[in-house]
Amino acid sequence: MMNPRWSILYRGPLSSCNYGCDYCPFAKTRNTRAELAHDAECLKRFCDWVESRPEQIGFLFTPWGEAMIHRHYQEALCRLSHMANVWRVAVQTNLAFPVESLSGCKRETAALWTTYHPTETTIPRFTAKCAALREAGIRHSVGIVGKREAFDDIHALRAALPKETYLWINAWKREKDYYSQEELAMLRGIDPHFDFNVVPHASLGRACRAGHSAFTVDGSGDARRCHFIPTVIGNIYDANFAQALLPRPCSIGECRCHIGYVSLEHLRLETVYGDGVLERIPLNFGFSSMASKA
Ligand code: SF4
Ligand code: SF4
Repeated sequence: MMNPRWSILYRGPLSSCNYGCDYCPFAKTRNTRAELAHDAECLKRFCDWVESRPEQIGFLFTPWGEAMIHRHYQEALCRLSHMANVWRVAVQTNLAFPVESLSGCKRETAALWTTYHPTETTIPRFTAKCAALREAGIRHSVGIVGKREAFDDIHALRAALPKETYLWINAWKREKDYYSQEELAMLRGIDPHFDFNVVPHASLGRACRAGHSAFTVDGSGDARRCHFIPTVIGNIYDANFAQALLPRPCSIGECRCHIGYVSLEHLRLETVYGDGVLERIPLNFGFSSMASKA
């Protein structure tokens, strides 16, 4: 029998960011050296656990802030990428870190979910980083929050990136019926999968992989089915943890984020994203690697 295949969202205690976006959903705090050391310890314990597991595992790091400016995350991404049981390790990042820090990672498994934040950097500076990622052969998607004042940046990003780079747009959902029909058509023209993101998905009682083959892990090892349902289902450091993973229907009304609704079985988004689901690269977007380093 094949070993199970898991998708894990990891979020350690790190809670600081070098940027200060006005739409940030996270508390922007500063971490002390002791807090960063604790975060690094949690991450190392998690990596050691992954190495010991028989399952095929893919990850997305979804930090409460920016992780990749810290060496312990750069090193963890490289280390995990080389593990034989890891099919993907991806990180959400604002790209404000040296691309060279990833030179040791395995290109087949490492990937980045990058986001452009208009008030914190510039299109030339950000797209130069994307070019460096392409040069280094590192898979990545690029995204932006689809607020109306960002529309010029959305067009500029699309023009500056090669067509093989998927540009996703996170719909602005904090205001109801925010977009006009013309704006929806324009955004769909840039992100062909925008429609999945702009509507909340009715999820109560629907079959969802979260809690069975997908789950979240925090720094203490506590596992939850997803970031949106706070109930702890087990702790990965318990010997019998795998028994906590069961098929179960969603228990809340709607699911609104890519990192959640991709697990809803009836949406069949595995046919859209395949193995690019964690870093958010659809199957029909190639990834142009200008290098073939491994
Ligand atoms: S880069 Fe991300 S985590 Fe940092 S302030 Fe902006 S939205 Fe928040
Ligand atoms: S549908 Fe969304 S909120 Fe419900 S269990 Fe799945 S990931 Fe969680």
